[in-house]
Amino acid sequence: MVDCCSLTNEVSSYICEELGNHIDVLIITHIDNDHLVGIASLLEKKNISISKIYFNCAQQVGSNGHGDPKIDACEIQRYSEVLNCPAGAFVGKISITKAALVAQLLLKEERHNRVWEKCYISTETSIIHLEKQWGKLIFLSPTQDILREQEDVFYREYYRVCKRNIRECSSKNVPVFFELISRLSEKKHKNGDVKGKISSLNGYKTVTQFEQLGETKIDSLSLSNRASLAFEWIGNKKRILVLGDADSEIVADSILQKYGDALRMYELIKVSHHGSKHSTSKRLLELVDSEHYFFTGGNKKDRPSVETISRIVSRPLSKSLKQRVLHCTMKNNSVINELQKENNLFLQADLHFSLSNENFHDFED
Ligand SMILES: [Zn+2]
Repeated sequence: MVDCCSLTNEVSSYICEELGNHIDVLIITHIDNDHLVGIASLLEKKNISISKIYFNCAQQVGSNGHGDPKIDACEIQRYSEVLNCPAGAFVGKISITKAALVAQLLLKEERHNRVWEKCYISTETSIIHLEKQWGKLIFLSPTQDILREQEDVFYREYYRVCKRNIRECSSKNVPVFFELISRLSEKKHKNGDVKGKISSLNGYKTVTQFEQLGETKIDSLSLSNRASLAFEWIGNKKRILVLGDADSEIVADSILQKYGDALRMYELIKVSHHGSKHSTSKRLLELVDSEHYFFTGGNKKDRPSVETISRIVSRPLSKSLKQRVLHCTMKNNSVINELQKENNLFLQADLHFSLSNENFHDFED
């Protein structure tokens, strides 16, 4: 299981009925709300068993101490309050108090803490061989530099609000502070974001004009996104690429370093950052391709974005592909709606792609 924005009834009953309430490997790609709030609800369930948890928090900084629970509670409260104001700055109506629980639950619940990997996961992590038939994981993001940068922000922010050095703090709640503080700096980043004009398909009457939409400049993503895990899951001669919200340049660098510049084919690719226009660079797309692209989550306006879709489908099809299928389950996304309109159908035909709202993919043997 990789991430969970909200533990809906659909997700819950899948875990119960299809997985018998057991999860072999749980991967939380990064600390952003839209990736872990549902995980907090999952970890709270008494009847769930998990064999392995991968989640980069601050598990290596002082997490074995005891500290003063009163001071901890006070500081956690203080951060939660800062984070809650102004209301509505977060994804949907997700409560921040709930989101803070992932680190708390991992520390509190012995059954989870035991299986939580304490070493940070990065591009330097060696191949992880999973149990039995599950194959292996190869991590392509984040770099150790990004993890250090994130830790530095944490140290500074902690000092600013709590007026004491985290290195002198023996609290076992350090990962909880880390989660709160990382989210706080993320919020600052979002507030400083100037909303750009959203490209639409209106007025683009030819394939060439559509292809040009992908030619926009790509900015780097926020620090918490750049710290996102991204990985290949390889088993049974199949491989899939799961990108979390990772930065394309980091992923492209690791693929180049590990495999060179030959095009690498995947059974499916989970597109990074919900298909925002600053994800999925041309440089990454020169290195990877697939018949199936999955856009998970998203929003109505620009996730997935027309820029990213253009970049994905504008490349010539590689030999083994007949078409590309873009899977998007976000309802009422304006870009997908536009692409489905009668006068835009020529794009799907000419660029050999189709759209699907199915949220699953069966692997053929
Ligand atoms: Zn996200």
